[in-house]
Amino acid sequence: MQHPLYQKATYLKSVPTLALCPEDEGYEVAFAGRSNAGKSSALNVITSQRGLARTSKTPGRTQLINFFECDPERRLVDLPGYGFAKVNIKIKRAWEEGLSEYIEKRKCLKGLILLMDCRMPPTEIDLVMLDWTQDLKLPVHVLLTKSDKLKKGPAKANLLKLQKLLKEEYPHASAQLFSSLKREGLTQVWNKLDEWMDYERPVKENKSD
Ligand code: GDP
Repeated sequence: MQHPLYQKATYLKSVPTLALCPEDEGYEVAFAGRSNAGKSSALNVITSQRGLARTSKTPGRTQLINFFECDPERRLVDLPGYGFAKVNIKIKRAWEEGLSEYIEKRKCLKGLILLMDCRMPPTEIDLVMLDWTQDLKLPVHVLLTKSDKLKKGPAKANLLKLQKLLKEEYPHASAQLFSSLKREGLTQVWNKLDEWMDYERPVKENKSD
């Protein structure tokens, strides 16, 4: 099963600042998350392209904003991973400086996919991201990744716990379980991207996954 729009994603460019981004027109959805959360794997599965996110992992590009064009109006954007488990203020600052302009000022940015490992509670930086996007009124959809690493019960429990937090404190955000390995949750994330990209799929899948 492939998505007619995202399977067409092709690498466009990598830039360090807002000024160098493509024209601020059409629709963009950006992907962010702590390094190792499974962002590259998710992007590869969402676009049905094994090596897509490798492009943004090549040396020199890991701290850049990486653009993938799906059609002339719609782009997926791979943002730099933001540091490892332990909160590192320096990494956080560097990440914020490099990207704050893009996230704060990009008009065509319609939503942010935030990736978090389903086995761990949100990190301090994840919460900073949720606070920040809430202030900006930028919709967020959390992928609780690597859901295949937990049994169904505990995975669901972690999802419900996060959904409760979002409902109470971050109503601009939604969440789902996701596994790149098992392709779990793929239709759900495609539907969210379609909504933000204002894209109508020719034939919608009826399966829950
Ligand atoms: P990134 O740093 O956020 O881009 O993370 P990667 O996509 O490179 O994934 C980090 C590690 O987690 C790699 O070893 C992946 O193989 C593994 N991984 C990513 N997604 C999944 C998943 O859905 N299930 C499992 N079991 N492992 C995953």
